[in-house]
Amino acid sequence: MKIIDQLHSDNRGLSCELFPPKEGGQLANALDIVREISTQGVDFISVTYGAAGTAVGKSVSIVSEVEKCGMTAMAHLTCVNATAQHIEETLGTLRDAGVQNILALRGDLPAGMTLEHEAYRHASDLVKKIKEYGGFCVGGACYPEGHPESAGLDDDIEKLKYKVDNGVDFLVTQMFFDNTIMYNYMYRLLAHGINVPVIPGIMPVTNARQIARICKLSGTKLPLHFRAIVEKFADDSEAMKQAGICYATAQALDLLANGFKDVHIYTMNKPDVIGGMMENLSHVVRHD
Ligand code: FAD
Repeated sequence: MKIIDQLHSDNRGLSCELFPPKEGGQLANALDIVREISTQGVDFISVTYGAAGTAVGKSVSIVSEVEKCGMTAMAHLTCVNATAQHIEETLGTLRDAGVQNILALRGDLPAGMTLEHEAYRHASDLVKKIKEYGGFCVGGACYPEGHPESAGLDDDIEKLKYKVDNGVDFLVTQMFFDNTIMYNYMYRLLAHGINVPVIPGIMPVTNARQIARICKLSGTKLPLHFRAIVEKFADDSEAMKQAGICYATAQALDLLANGFKDVHIYTMNKPDVIGGMMENLSHVVRHD
């Protein structure tokens, strides 16, 4: 199913993100995670693409498994350092696997890798390419607190408009922990003439050290009241996990109550985390 059709329906739900195992990691384990999540009733499962195309085979195996389980898949695809031929081959592979949704990203060049191909400089170039190829529903990334490289939030939104003008069907946000930031962002998008559906992305924090590193890299802020929770339970892994699921559940509930159709959960490959949220919101999510 195309995600844009889900977003235009009366359904309300959660989707989630998985990432492929690192080099030498266990693909079989990732496929088991897909099968486990496929029983939980999420709207769709997205699968990340290794930086600059590393581990591409594993990403494709995982999205194929999502489709085989009868779920809607969204394949992430990055274009930094990619050639047109590589992009076309990957699109053909995804189409043959039954994938109908792609999150078009620029990506970042991994440390130590030199830029050899500049066919696609920005995600908007990739959006255009996929739309010309045809057949896919295309999403793009957006950043309610601004992309770390941008000169500011308004500058970032002006650049975001290129993706929208090139045909992006919907947007998925970087994680945030304060819903007021998201509502403020929505006003700004509308003021810039961006009115495609937006899927807010949130992360249930289950590991205090990990979240400190992620926030530093992405520029995401932890609100004071949530920082107190993280600090209090940092050394008690079970309490931290429960607190993280509760906090993310409250965030998702607020977002769904205020009209968002889907909330995307950054699960860090933990089926019990998305399972816990689905259970907490079992009467709130709705699939007609
Ligand atoms: P772009 O939209 O190209 O933006 C990057 C920067 O360039 C921004 O500062 C923007 O303001 C600026 N910009 C955009 N267009 C122009 C233009 N025409 N002229 C000048 N400046 C411009 N990374 C992975 O490697 N794999 C993944 O699977 C992955 N999944 C992600 C999923 C989500 C929901 C998000 C939010 C991020 C994801 N990332 C992933 C990380 C992402 O690749 C990085 O944040 C990357 O730095 C930017 O990618 P982008 O697609 O947002 O780039």
